[in-house]
Amino acid sequence: MQIVHTHTGKIYVDTEHRLEFLTVGDYGKENNIKADFLGLHTEINGVKHKEVDLTKKWVATISTQKGCPMKCQFCDCPKFGFFGNASVEELSFEIETILKNETIKNTDRFNVHFARMGEPTFNENVLEFAKNHLRDITKKYITAKTIHPVVSTMLPKKNKKLKQFILDWCNIKNIDYNGEAGLQFSINSTDNAQREAQFNSNSLSLEEISALAKELPQPVGRKYTLNFAVTKDTILDADRLTELFDPKMFIVKITPIHETNSAIQNGFDVTTSYDDYDVYREFEQPLVKKGWDVIVFVPSHEEDSDRITCGNALIASA
Ligand code: SF4
Repeated sequence: MQIVHTHTGKIYVDTEHRLEFLTVGDYGKENNIKADFLGLHTEINGVKHKEVDLTKKWVATISTQKGCPMKCQFCDCPKFGFFGNASVEELSFEIETILKNETIKNTDRFNVHFARMGEPTFNENVLEFAKNHLRDITKKYITAKTIHPVVSTMLPKKNKKLKQFILDWCNIKNIDYNGEAGLQFSINSTDNAQREAQFNSNSLSLEEISALAKELPQPVGRKYTLNFAVTKDTILDADRLTELFDPKMFIVKITPIHETNSAIQNGFDVTTSYDDYDVYREFEQPLVKKGWDVIVFVPSHEEDSDRITCGNALIASA
């Protein structure tokens, strides 16, 4: 297994198991997040690299599939191909490898993102793993005040069990984790044609996602999240979003589209949006005026160049 050291952690490239997973720290939300509803009002004009502290927040990002059968235009994972789901044992192996290779024994927060390679809703092992294994495995290695797993989905239209997976995940969030878990929908645009281009026509339409959202139970703890990975060409219409989704159930998270090989090859403008808040303000302010809770998250250049951000897969070129 190849271990790639980054500014904020490590990426494990496991060609034998066809998995890739990573461990990173975080700069602290006052440094890389603007979210008025959380009292974080400073506009983020670029994020400076500094040392991270895993005892405050520790992020593990693991693969739920070996490659990915989706073909999102901004993501390098499909370049690797697709070799099936990760088993419960393999999901456990990813987390154990991450935990046992650090010397840290305590953290305030251990976030587990099912978001390196794969679309998690295709893999029911994710449900079993989060419900019945993740907490016990974590406790074997560290004391974490909070363990917070997060499912991010591109809402694949080919997944006939999508709704059931999401409802099961809501129960895991609301009941098993007493609210301390996340559910994120990748929306990226309020224009169906723009979404179809980005997701290669593999994601549900906005109307279908809206109908699904109406069937979710009230979130316990944090609201559910609508993710927008943006460039300045993104269409994010606050009125349209409010017709489709309920601001009492969802927050909006805005991030830049990351500098993956695919994003660059497919013509996304990934270069301008890190150091200048103007791009984000244009999306953020109309939403805030409509009553939405909005988080703007900006990675540092180091994080992006380390390719720890979403849509990267070093294994694709390993
Ligand atoms: S963004 Fe996620 S769902 Fe889309 S191709 Fe990449 S890994 Fe698959």
